[in-house]
This record gives sequence, structure tokens and C-alpha cells, in this order.
Amino acid sequence: MLESAQALITKTAEKMKLDGEIIKRLIEPEFAHEFALTITMDSGKKKVFKGWRIQHNSALGPYKGGIRFHPETVREEVQALATLMSIKCAVAGLPYGGAKGGIIVDPKQLSKGELEKLSRAFAAKITHVIGVDVDVPAPDVNTTPQIMAWMIDEYQKIVGYKSPGTFTGKPVAIGGSLGRTEATGRGGLFVLLALLAKQNEKLKMKNEKLTVAVQGFGNVGYYFAKLAEVEGFKIVSVSDSKGGIYVKDGLSVGTTMKCKKEKGMVAGCYCRGSVCDLKYGRPISNEELLELSVDILVPAALENVINYQNMKKIKAKIILELANGPITEEAYEYLSNKGVVIIPDVLANSGGVIVSYLEWVQGRQGYWWSEEEVNKKLKEMIERAFEAIWDKSVEKKMPLKQAAFEVAIERITSAMV
Ligand code: NAD
Repeated sequence: MLESAQALITKTAEKMKLDGEIIKRLIEPEFAHEFALTITMDSGKKKVFKGWRIQHNSALGPYKGGIRFHPETVREEVQALATLMSIKCAVAGLPYGGAKGGIIVDPKQLSKGELEKLSRAFAAKITHVIGVDVDVPAPDVNTTPQIMAWMIDEYQKIVGYKSPGTFTGKPVAIGGSLGRTEATGRGGLFVLLALLAKQNEKLKMKNEKLTVAVQGFGNVGYYFAKLAEVEGFKIVSVSDSKGGIYVKDGLSVGTTMKCKKEKGMVAGCYCRGSVCDLKYGRPISNEELLELSVDILVPAALENVINYQNMKKIKAKIILELANGPITEEAYEYLSNKGVVIIPDVLANSGGVIVSYLEWVQGRQGYWWSEEEVNKKLKEMIERAFEAIWDKSVEKKMPLKQAAFEVAIERITSAMV
């Protein structure tokens, strides 16, 4: 992952004829904090956990990026994600650089008390290197608003004053933003609509007729599907880790989620309107879902799901990358050459970081906006980001991903002094 992020930056920067030293500054992280955290477990024994906060680039503003708790996290992954955050923030036009944090831990193996201790220990370790104008952490894989609440509480105890802008993704009661939960899915829909508006000008198409398959029915996939259904798209397939469903005439997203909550999985939830019945649809595997003959494919679960093995079987005309890195480099090139339009993750899923930015602004000014205001600002910002990348891709006749990296690198390097 790190090699591929660095290779993409180097390739783009070389095409832009940037100086070798500038490329080095785009590759190397500015700081890499590595530490051991020791907490006392419920058993009374002490246990050591390894963690990082990697601050990649701050040319455009304070570092910004999530913290993940995962048993397989390694330093290289944290660094790669920090690098991609610099690109994503620049693509979104945010006044931020990129960072990422991580702890090697399986949070499911911890009690609630142990999880709180670990979260507080992490916040205490990074207190001296973060801050509202320095580095603003947020949730990522396996970290929640509750974990952000523990972390900011610990941070504020140490510094001795309130600083609601120092962490984002907090619960609304302590300065979180309305609209944050839905932001990534909603932002993805805004970008898709902006792309279709460009294409529909030429093709005279209507969105209502377009079929959509969504892999992943978690936070991002569910809200995307729910909002897309309201917009008139026909959601024909959704899945989670245990498999998926296919409903030819379009499924009901709300009833499907209700059914998933009751059964613990999407499989078997063939819901149309308010009724779930097998006669409406059929089961489908995650592999089959990706290969469906749909207009729009939305990978919203895992990385590398579209790869050398299945790239030739992908039939969708548009792929909206809501997950991070769902398409391997090889598959990306193959599908782009075939004419598939891929909306890259750094743009497609930037709704989350955009609303994190809006949370930071609200925290700094001590004035909170309504959900409508937040959604309106998200729409304006993500559409502006899309326009810049679309224009670049048309001007240079390049895929949107390459255009996104070029726009980001232009913005970052123009702020490097
Ligand atoms: P989540 O944990 O809420 O949901 C993940 C979904 O993927 C679940 O439905 C899960 O069952 C499903 N899943 C897991 N393994 C699967 C498999 N093998 N096949 C099919 N589905 C599988 O996570 P999320 O917050 O929705 O994040 C999804 C993706 O979006 C991740 O790549 C994440 O990095 C990315 N992302 C999330 C945000 C955000 O704001 N949450 C922002 C940017 C990017």
C-alpha cells in the first residue's frame, strides 16, 4: 500500500516535471511518532501495545487524519494512509495536511474499561504533538465517537483547557457535527450526481433508470444506498460480509436494513416496499455482486476487491470508490482503458473528512450549524472539488484518479515554501 501510494505520487510528480527534492518532500513524512502504550488490564496484569501517529505533510495546514485500532496494523500502512490523507485533503480543497494514527490491537478482545484506558493512553502520548492548529485526529477503522470522547477528555485534562476543535468525529453532545454520520455516503452521492450531470448532458439520460449494486452495507454503503434510492436510483443489490441479495426490480433500502438488524445479516432480506419475501429476489455472493450487469457499482467495504482475478468480468459503466482502495492498480488501468469511469476514493469518499473539517470550524467558532446547513456546505465543497478534477481530466485527457493526484500535488507544492 505504501509503495503504491508513493509510486503514484512519484509518477504524477514526474509527469508534472517537478524537481526531485520536491518529490522527496511529497514522499517522506514530516514526523513519525512511534511508541509503546502500557495499560493495566482487568486481570491486574500490565500489557504493552504498539502505536503510531504519522504526520505526513503540513504545507496546506494542520495535519488531519483518523486513528485505527486493528490487530494487523503496521507502520507502513499508517504511513501510506497518512500520505493518502494529504492527497485527499488537498483534493477536497481543505486547509489541512495529512496524518494517520494506529494501534496494534483487536478492540473486540478488550473490555469497555480496557478500551477506555487504551484510548486515554494513546491521547496522552500524542498530546504534545497534536492540537487545533497542529494535528486534528478523528475516528477510523474500529474507533468510534465514544473513543474520540475519551481521547479529547484526556487531551483537555492534560492541556488544562477546552479545545473542541482538536478531535473530530465526536458525539454531538460534546461538539460533534450534525450530518457527520451520513457524510461519506451523502458526499459520494453528490459526486456521482455531479458526474452524471456531465454525462447526461451528452447522453440525455435520466438517473431514475440507472441500476446500482453496493458492496458493504455498513455506515458508508447503507447511507449511500438510502440516499440514492430517494434520488430515484434503482438499488438492485447490496451485501455485507456474510453475502448479499439481488432484487431485479429494485430493493427497499430501509426495510432491508430493518431486516438485517433483526437477522444480523443482509442475506435472506429480499425486501420490496415494506415486505420481505424470497419471491422478490435471490441470494448473491460478494464476488457475483461485483460482476453484475449494472450501470453503477459501489464498492463500500474492503480494499483490493476488484483485481487481476475479476477485472475482466466487471460490467458496470461507472464505479464509485466509496471504500479506500477497492481497485488494485492493475485493475484500475485495465478498466480505465476499457472506458469504465472510476470516481477515485480520494474524491468519492471525501465527504467524511469534509464534514470533519466543518466540525473543526464549528468547534473553533463555538457556533453550531443545523444539519441542513452542514449538508449544504458539504454539497458545495464536494461539487467544487469534483469540478476541478473533472476539468483537469478533460483538459489533460486523463482518468479522474490521475487528475485528482495532479490537482492535489499542484495545491500542496504551491503551498510549500
Ligand atoms: P463499516 O464497518 O460500517 O461497514 C463495513 C461493511 O462492509 C459492513 O457491512 C461489513 O459487513 C461489510 N464487509 C466486511 N467484509 C466484507 C466482505 N468481505 N465482503 C462484503 N462486505 C464486507 O465501515 P464503513 O465506515 O462503512 O467503511 C467502509 C469503507 O469506507 C472502508 O474502506 C473505509 O475505510 C471507507 N471509508 C469510510 C469513511 C467513513 O466515514 N466511515 C470515510 C472514508 C472511507
